[in-house]
Amino acid sequence: MAKPSDPITILRGVGPARAELFHNLNIYTLEDLICHYPRGYEDRTRLVPICQLEVDRPACFQAVVMNTPRTAHIRKGLDLTRVQVADTTGRLNLTFFNSRYAEQNLHYGETYIFYGTVTGDYGGYGMTNPVFESPSSQGVATRRILPVYPLTAGLNNAAIVRCVQQALAICDPPGEILPESIRQRYDILPAELAYTAIHQPKSMQEAEQARRRLIFEEFFVFSAGLSLLRASRARKKSLPYENTDLTAFYAALPFRLTGAQQRAIDEILRDMGRGTPMNRLVQGDVGSGKTMVAAAAAFCAARNGFQTAFMAPTEILAEQHYDTLRKLFSPMGISTALLTGSMTPKEKKQCRQAIAAGDAQVVIGTHALLTDATAFNRLGLVIADEQHRFGVEQRSSLAAKGTDPHLLVMSATPIPRTLAIILYGDLDVSILDELPPGRQNVDTFLVGESFRARINAFIRKQVQEGHQCFVVCPAVEENEELGIKSAQVWAETLQKTVFPDLRVSLLHGQMKGSQKEQVMAAFARQEADVLVATTVIEVGVDIPNATLMVIEDADRFGLSQLHQLRGRVGRGRDKSYCILVSHNKNPETLQRLKALCATNDGFRIAQEDLRQRGPGDFFGSRQSGLPVFRVADMNMDLDTLRQAQSASAQWIDQWGDSDLPEAQSLRARISQLFQRSQGTLN
Ligand code: ADP
Ligand code: MG
Repeated sequence: MAKPSDPITILRGVGPARAELFHNLNIYTLEDLICHYPRGYEDRTRLVPICQLEVDRPACFQAVVMNTPRTAHIRKGLDLTRVQVADTTGRLNLTFFNSRYAEQNLHYGETYIFYGTVTGDYGGYGMTNPVFESPSSQGVATRRILPVYPLTAGLNNAAIVRCVQQALAICDPPGEILPESIRQRYDILPAELAYTAIHQPKSMQEAEQARRRLIFEEFFVFSAGLSLLRASRARKKSLPYENTDLTAFYAALPFRLTGAQQRAIDEILRDMGRGTPMNRLVQGDVGSGKTMVAAAAAFCAARNGFQTAFMAPTEILAEQHYDTLRKLFSPMGISTALLTGSMTPKEKKQCRQAIAAGDAQVVIGTHALLTDATAFNRLGLVIADEQHRFGVEQRSSLAAKGTDPHLLVMSATPIPRTLAIILYGDLDVSILDELPPGRQNVDTFLVGESFRARINAFIRKQVQEGHQCFVVCPAVEENEELGIKSAQVWAETLQKTVFPDLRVSLLHGQMKGSQKEQVMAAFARQEADVLVATTVIEVGVDIPNATLMVIEDADRFGLSQLHQLRGRVGRGRDKSYCILVSHNKNPETLQRLKALCATNDGFRIAQEDLRQRGPGDFFGSRQSGLPVFRVADMNMDLDTLRQAQSASAQWIDQWGDSDLPEAQSLRARISQLFQRSQGTLN
């Protein structure tokens, strides 16, 4: 027997070159291969009589070869082999391209099982390149349910099927981690059976059961891990912050905090005064004022002699937070610093020196802030803005730095409660469910191409009234995908032919960091009227003078993402609008987009998004920072998630601290899933 950690090169037919291809799929070991699950199945168990074969629908059938295969040389590099086959219900002409194999292995008068697709388009009714096997052979490509794997260029499905089959034959799949009692209660297949059945199911029903088991298992491991993480944090010590008086901070604010902001701040102060590290998520819709909540926490840290690392997902946002916080904090005598990747090495060095010396009290930057090169003098608080890019691995690697600072993560992505519990089970949550006063809804319209002239006129009207507009396109360059508006081309079209008298600028993710910042800063200074952009403007950017957002090919985006984008307008005093443009005629798609016109409530939109697309896509649409679930994109069902969660809670209660082998292997699996988090789980 081979070990699960053995490299795939020990398999027959996997040399260094093919191994490379597998590496593209993140497959290095036998276990990786066994955990490379099919994304679907083709049911080839049923044999169809020839007379019932349908055009364009692949099927299996059994037939006798009626003549000797004849190969014709058509031109250089093109040989056609033709043969006729028949069963008692009809005849069928088969054609093979460049197939010596077919010519040599199909024999007159013998019976084979074929799998292929009848086409009716050219050369008449017939079938090209079917696969075939002898009825006496063990079915590999026919008479079975064939798994369909995620592929990579150069590696076809049949090759993966063969390798997985070999791996399963010589290596045990991952062991059982679910106790018998849980398996019975939730009707879950045993591990060994599930790992075999996911690749080689005997029936579609068995495939479905295997899939459910693996989803259950994955979420079981994940939520058990979160529970352990939470428990281990609760045992950690940090210095309690003695001084939690924020009077000076409140006095300096240009506005009154909302009730929700005040509640969140109070919860944070309580956390910080407790003597164990805070782990809090602040969830609030765009514009709910999360920055000030974060600022209050940073103020409190500074008053207690601690430094704060404030991380934003992009440099543009880091800049913006820096501006806000510098203005707020400098009159209070709290020093701020900005550290970004686009600074010169000299600037960075100076900044790092100030951080190491403790001269910079509130340091704003991107994730680079947590790299090893940046040493803090007395780091007491880490703030991560836009939490979905700051996942559980980072959360735990933070603590592994040995400092155990307080952690505050902020998210404008309203994750529905069901998923939030699963994803952020290790965090306490404050919800900002109230917008600052005077904020108005962004009026949202869904229109088709026939409204183009009116859209353009509306853009012009906004600009004439002294406002600015965003135009968002799904792609950067033309031809990325046919028929999709690209920011580059559309910006040019708008500037040259539609608004030659207005100032149109362009922003997209392929531009350099410094370039992006220049464009954004210029737009903020009102040096452009229309900003054509990709989704790089998605998070946080604050341009109060912008009152209109046009989103091209809106059907290309998820609802939550559209809601985030829309949050870029309506940040000032003036009435703001969002126009969703879509050529899509699919009633379901239009229905989906209309949900956005009907409400400005991010939580309701997220719920709707989840309902329509299912959690698989919901997870899939997120960026890095979320755990990578191997079966997540198989469109899992929420019931299984909930069951796995309550099962894991039960399990942790009973066996969390035990030394049973099952408990040990579960802990090992958790570490695997959280990768870099080993240090914090015990
Ligand atoms: P988000 O939650 O999207 O990060 P921000 O923190 O960027 O929201 O706040 C959006 C805008 O609302 C900012 O211009 C901010 O100054 C303003 N703001 C925040 N809190 C209040 C408040 N209590 N009253 C009035 N305006 C506020
Ligand atoms: Mg924000």
